[in-house]
Amino acid sequence: MTDRLRIKLDRTLCDGFGICAKHAPEYFSLDDWGYAVLVGDGDIPERDHDAVQRALMDCPVHAIMELTERRPDDAPIPEVNEPDLDQLKTEDNEAEWGFSR
Ligand code: SF4
Repeated sequence: MTDRLRIKLDRTLCDGFGICAKHAPEYFSLDDWGYAVLVGDGDIPERDHDAVQRALMDCPVHAIMELTERRPDDAPIPEVNEPDLDQLKTEDNEAEWGFSR
């Protein structure tokens, strides 16, 4: 089984250094101002993992992120406990909480 690599680019973080386009020009191009644009849908075939991982790790502002997926063998998602309704502040008990209007 091959590992899947999916990435996304946050253009609001990009500072236009152009390192990504140098490492992986098939997946990153630069716009007229030198900011990176992701080419394609972010799915990276295995043959290009190294180049894209290099771009990801060398981006000085961490604008390139690896998207991870949960797999069946991952740890289970922790259960979210409902809040204790008796402990919640409401209009009915706000005097007990020390607030008044
Ligand atoms: S390496 Fe990072 S900061 Fe530089 S152009 Fe690419 S995404 Fe932008």
